[in-house]
Amino acid sequence: MKALKIAIQKSGRLNEKSVALLKNCGLNFENYKSSLITSVSNFPLEILFLRDDDIPEYVQDGIADLGIVGENVIQETEVDVEYLQELGFGKCTLKIAVPKGSNFENIQELNGKSIATSNPVILQKFLTNNGIQAEIRTISGSVEISPGLGLSDAICDIVSTGGTLRSNGLEPFADVLSSQAVLIGKKGIESNEVVSELLQRIQSVLKAKETKYVVLNIESKNLPSILALLTGVRSPTIIPLAEEGWVAVHTVIAEQDFWKKINALKSYGAQGIVVMPIEKIIM
Ligand code: ATP
Ligand code: MG
Repeated sequence: MKALKIAIQKSGRLNEKSVALLKNCGLNFENYKSSLITSVSNFPLEILFLRDDDIPEYVQDGIADLGIVGENVIQETEVDVEYLQELGFGKCTLKIAVPKGSNFENIQELNGKSIATSNPVILQKFLTNNGIQAEIRTISGSVEISPGLGLSDAICDIVSTGGTLRSNGLEPFADVLSSQAVLIGKKGIESNEVVSELLQRIQSVLKAKETKYVVLNIESKNLPSILALLTGVRSPTIIPLAEEGWVAVHTVIAEQDFWKKINALKSYGAQGIVVMPIEKIIM
């Protein structure tokens, strides 16, 4: 199989989780901070370390076959690439924020105002879709200080916790785009066998993250009431204990149902409940 190239962020918010995802997929590579490219020793893949802003174009132009980058960056660069998989990390929202006490009630009130942003393309689309005419002031960083300096009436910036907004006397006003890291590929690449193999591994890692492996003991007479709660991958595994009348149940539970189900299982007499992380689930 011919080696493909995947571009990931060299340093910054997505670097560590992108590296961890590839390593969890069983890929062996040295993460040299100083080099631009490294090869994977046990999979036909080379990894390019780039500024995140450059990744969408590298993938569109085929310099890299694949890339991991925030959806906000893809939309801002307006590239024509294939979205292969949402990756569940790097979650953030691009929001419009206004100075505290502005008393804006409706986004139409942005008409005629100026908005500072590093994401002019996404903001312009949002304004056009909402029939708003506002002046966009494109600046490359520290967007949140611009209303305080009198540069703009509002800002449009990436928010995760809102702490930066608050410390600059701003409050969120409207959501423009929810973003997370995504795996993208150049057009047509999804039929490549290396890509299908990598995608399958990524999906098994993501699936495992959403799921816990649970082992518990229960008296056989109470088994029917807990089986209704547990589906497992196919169905739970039941193993007799050395002690007469008791069994061990092995199963998987979705992370989001976890506490609800654990409490119900306890109320039906489940004991010695052990919960373990899962590395991969191959369906
Ligand atoms: P580079 O040096 O690669 O250009 P950068 O400074 O442009 O990096 P980072 O701040 O590392 O970018 O953010 C990378 C991506 O992480 C963003 O494009 C966004 O998708 C995501 N992200 C998640 N949370 C946040 C946040 N609180 N602030 C900014 N970006 C976030
Ligand atoms: Mg950047």
